[in-house]
Amino acid sequence: MNKPLVIAHRGASGYLPEHTLAAKALAYGMGADYLEQDVVASRDGELIVMHDVLLDDVSDVAQKFPLRARDDGHFYVRDFDLPELRSLKLFERFEGAISKPVFPKRFPAGTGNFGIVTLRDELEMIAGLNRSTGRSVGIYPEIKRPAWHRENGFDLAEAVLRMLAEFGYERRSDPVFLQCFDAAELKRVRHELGSNLKLIQLLGDNSWGEAATDYDELLSAAGLTDVAEYADGIGPWIMQLYKFDEMTAVKSSTGLVAAAHERGLAVHPYTFRADQLAPGFSSMAEMISWFTANEDIDGFFTDFTDKGVEVVNLLQRQLP
Ligand code: CA
Repeated sequence: MNKPLVIAHRGASGYLPEHTLAAKALAYGMGADYLEQDVVASRDGELIVMHDVLLDDVSDVAQKFPLRARDDGHFYVRDFDLPELRSLKLFERFEGAISKPVFPKRFPAGTGNFGIVTLRDELEMIAGLNRSTGRSVGIYPEIKRPAWHRENGFDLAEAVLRMLAEFGYERRSDPVFLQCFDAAELKRVRHELGSNLKLIQLLGDNSWGEAATDYDELLSAAGLTDVAEYADGIGPWIMQLYKFDEMTAVKSSTGLVAAAHERGLAVHPYTFRADQLAPGFSSMAEMISWFTANEDIDGFFTDFTDKGVEVVNLLQRQLP
């Protein structure tokens, strides 16, 4: 059985607004193995750590810049320069209005003094913490919507690789996993851009529209073999790993982890949330135990770093 890596999904986002430096510092202090950065680009070509190309549901952009939405009604990071982005406040993720948080029991809606984070800000903080603590916590950046960025005049993968190299992340052995939903882009990162980093192919559902990638194809035996040619692992949605029968309350494996392992691919599923459990589980601890013991996952993305670390350590102590 592996000791699964605890990957802080958008930081300790179960406790503080996602992708703020505070959420990352908390996850670091709670013992995460890796901290995740979703990366998008601003108008002036700065790399911004944000889950989405949109600012709508995590900031006060609609109040500060009401006239800057596109015709579709959305506010895009790519339409703002860094000084403008720095003037925004970030909040707990909401739906439609700052006062309506997605997770009502998390950090109080509309409160706190949190600002936009650049990839440079965050890599500097992690490098600094690694120096001051003597630890070696890794990074887990995601290239967000590379095809969209290209249509909007920016080569995101190239810029991310350049920034990572500046911070010394260049070799396979460096503590970094680079992830992307777009298979064509990840192949390009490996073969055209010549990256030696560990690459993770994210797997979604075709209905989400994350990329032009066909995930049904990638999940097939031939598809996984193709992924193993350019990537070091997969990041599947948790529901791609198991099925739960409501009638019998029986959980059964889809066999994806075993199929990935046969091809030498690590498996890091998303997202383990204490306040949004996967079907058939009564706690996040039970989820971690089941996926570790029954599926032998290599890591997991979680919003609750401390709970993840606690259970992983407990499972290790129970090993013979
Ligand atoms: Ca992500």
